[in-house]
Amino acid sequence: MNKKIVIIGGGVAGLSAGIYARLNGFDTEIIEMHSITGGQCTAWERKDYRFDYCLHWLVGTRSGPFHDIWLETNVINGQVKIIDHEIHTKIFAEDGTDFTIYTNIDRWEKYLCEIAPEDSKSISKMCNDMRKTSILEPYSNPPELRRWTDTMNSFFKMLPMIILFMKYGKKTFREYIGQFNFKNPLLAFFFDNLFSAHDFSALAFIMMLAWFNKKNAGYLLGGSKPMTQRMSEKYINLAGVLTTHKKVKKIIVEDNLAKGVLLDDGSKIFADYVISAADGHSTIFEMLEGKYLSEKIKEAYDSWELFNPIVQVSFGINSEIKTDFPVQSWLSKNNKIGMTKTDQGFSIMNYCFDPSMAPPGKTVIVIRYESQWDLWKDLKGEEYLKEKQQIENDSRLLLEKHIPEVSGKIEVIDVATPLTDVRYTGVWKGSYEGFLPSSKNLMSNLKPTLPGLNGFYMAGQWLAPGGGLPPAGQTGKWAIQLICKKEKKAFTVK
Ligand SMILES: Cc1cc2nc3c(=O)[nH]c(=O)nc-3n(C[C@H](O)[C@H](O)[C@H](O)COP(=O)(O)OP(=O)(O)OC[C@H]3O[C@@H](n4cnc5c(N)ncnc54)[C@H](O)[C@@H]3O)c2cc1C
Repeated sequence: MNKKIVIIGGGVAGLSAGIYARLNGFDTEIIEMHSITGGQCTAWERKDYRFDYCLHWLVGTRSGPFHDIWLETNVINGQVKIIDHEIHTKIFAEDGTDFTIYTNIDRWEKYLCEIAPEDSKSISKMCNDMRKTSILEPYSNPPELRRWTDTMNSFFKMLPMIILFMKYGKKTFREYIGQFNFKNPLLAFFFDNLFSAHDFSALAFIMMLAWFNKKNAGYLLGGSKPMTQRMSEKYINLAGVLTTHKKVKKIIVEDNLAKGVLLDDGSKIFADYVISAADGHSTIFEMLEGKYLSEKIKEAYDSWELFNPIVQVSFGINSEIKTDFPVQSWLSKNNKIGMTKTDQGFSIMNYCFDPSMAPPGKTVIVIRYESQWDLWKDLKGEEYLKEKQQIENDSRLLLEKHIPEVSGKIEVIDVATPLTDVRYTGVWKGSYEGFLPSSKNLMSNLKPTLPGLNGFYMAGQWLAPGGGLPPAGQTGKWAIQLICKKEKKAFTVK
């Protein structure tokens, strides 16, 4: 008889765990509370349009251990087209002055030196930091399974990076940028306004641009939903069991051994191992009642900064609207959308680069902005509906102001709030990527096991500050590698 693994949650982490578990001969059941898999990596259809919620960039589209995971889980295959944008974002000040972030570092350096020749030394230094980071490769194996030779090899390969880690590992983006003391007022203004309210890690910023420069953080044509559908197909084709519309209430534990799960309809599913790929906070503090905690877990959930939730307003436009830059980001401090003062600005994304989002002659454009969880946590009923209506009105005016061609052509508007995300996926405080990568926690991952609890593993965005799809896919794989080790089985990806 095969051993059985029950997996809570059918997002990218749960699907990844399910696929690797089947490849390694375990019986599996994924329990997903929503009607579909994908979790936050999703999209929805309205009339002729598909409104995508997640995928902007996927680290690992070209090479490295994340790429291996995407190939093994059918996220990327011969049929999937990858797009590498030339422009990451075009940022606008309130007066319309603009500033471009290019994905190619040479091109960005040239552009920055042209607008600020007086800062060329600092610009080169910053761009060189990014070039050095290009050698960064994540580990293939979880820390528990790394041999000392893996660590030594990667130490020598990454020596130039280790110096950067020592220099900037504990610095915020603002401290990092501050040291350059840019003299050019335009540069100083735009850098000063990036991540201005957050303790955002300097290294996270440097590494992000390095991934783009290597063309290893592309966009998959079709976006989020086809991506997770491909994962689900692979899981089902491997004869994995998927149960939807069922919510896990508790993890059944006897003598500190996880034995299975209790569902909210009262039924129980027993297994040899339980993996939770659901929200981290509800797993630890509700399903396990906070009984298995380490100091680090307590510190993380008590004090690490979270990503602010976002509001997404999607527009279906009955006209073809083209642009050279998919994302424009507006630094409009005095703007309000609904009840939210958009201190962090807002972005407008035009999906014209992906023809699967709208029929020919039509366009999908999306406005996104951060909105503090405290504004949403108690909002319900009429008040909530009124706020959604106000967001729709304000966003429509905003879009017409910035892209006047849409006037009179908007056929569909859809408002997704932080409460929408929480309702469909249970994500804690609407934090769509979990813990913010900050100067305090970068590279400080949480363990997939909990102290004192056997037969149980975690996977998903909450294990790695910065979150996102790559750690979700990777921690699903790592959970199965650890279970194989426990079962004294050789782990396979075929
Ligand atoms: C607007 C937006 C843009 C993003 N852009 C990017 C991007 O460009 N690149 C990137 O890498 N990442 C991006 N992300 C982040 C990325 O989507 C997430 O980090 C990732 O999908 C998390 O995957 P997960 O499997 O860990 O968790 P989730 O996607 O949250 O999945 C958890 C699953 O568990 C289920 N579940 C929860 N509780 C229970 C329960 N009690 N019982 C049963 N099932 C349960 C949920 O329904 C859900 O399906 C973005 C996210 C958003 C919202």
